[in-house]
Amino acid sequence: MQLDLYVNTLGRHLKQRFGGKVRKLSVDGDFTCPNRDGSIGKGGCTFCNVDAFVKPEQQMMPIGEQLDARKAELKHKDIRYLAYFQAYTSTYAEVEYLRSMYQQALADDSVVGLCIGTRPDCVPEAVLEMLAEYQAQGKEVWLELGVQTAHDETLKRINRGHDFAAFQQAVARAHHHGLKVCAHLILGLPGEGPEHYMQTLNAVLDEQIAGIKLHPLHVVEGSTMAKAWRAGRLTTLGHQEYIEQAVRLIRHTPTDVVYHRVSAHARPPMLLAPSWCENKWLALTDIAKKLAAEGSQGSSL
Ligand code: SF4
Repeated sequence: MQLDLYVNTLGRHLKQRFGGKVRKLSVDGDFTCPNRDGSIGKGGCTFCNVDAFVKPEQQMMPIGEQLDARKAELKHKDIRYLAYFQAYTSTYAEVEYLRSMYQQALADDSVVGLCIGTRPDCVPEAVLEMLAEYQAQGKEVWLELGVQTAHDETLKRINRGHDFAAFQQAVARAHHHGLKVCAHLILGLPGEGPEHYMQTLNAVLDEQIAGIKLHPLHVVEGSTMAKAWRAGRLTTLGHQEYIEQAVRLIRHTPTDVVYHRVSAHARPPMLLAPSWCENKWLALTDIAKKLAAEGSQGSSL
């Protein structure tokens, strides 16, 4: 069951723009996070794997080599790529360092753009200007802002270190530079239910965001939530419950909004719960089937 038939996926969007397949390739710019180092907060977001902040002893591979290694793993030919700076806070460094990281990715002829994952309170003007320059040069540029929920009470509870107003301000500033924003949302955060999810969706849509990355809360080893889950103080969404809610939100999303992701995938031993996130295709297939039966993206605005 092909999700693209029912959802305006990033793959579909990029195919329309570039006339062929474009894939995201994750690269690591060796960044850190201000919600860990004390600049904004300490301990990080409670769902985040703080152990991942410990860098390996060896030098980080140059971006070009990371891209080559990932391409070799995928063994795809004649495909173009978006370099996805996903790990940590990918705008948290001096602007010249950022420029050198992004430039290294764009120096690869098969890389047609960038997707930059970051926090709403970590997007200085100089970074927005630089991303707007790349866009003006014809590159596909996405600013992916982690917000997770529009509810300040939950943001506080998960130790995000910013409120929803910070997201609204960052989106407005990105739009001022003509940049597309993708909002990263999580379903199943502590204390939240279906009404919270829909309120969050409506709140980010009100900000005219161009993309959404949606996934269920999954508990990973090394996170603060792992301790709560082990102690029986945290539960995660069941497979059917997630499918139900994800489909409800997708159907309520206008068709011009691009879904960068509709589920999550992780493997043990890093993944603790829910176990259904181990199967990469299960949620995607079931979401597509349900959308086929009930109506595709935008059918329930
Ligand atoms: S989720 Fe992002 S902002 Fe939160 S601790 Fe992890 S890297 Fe930092």
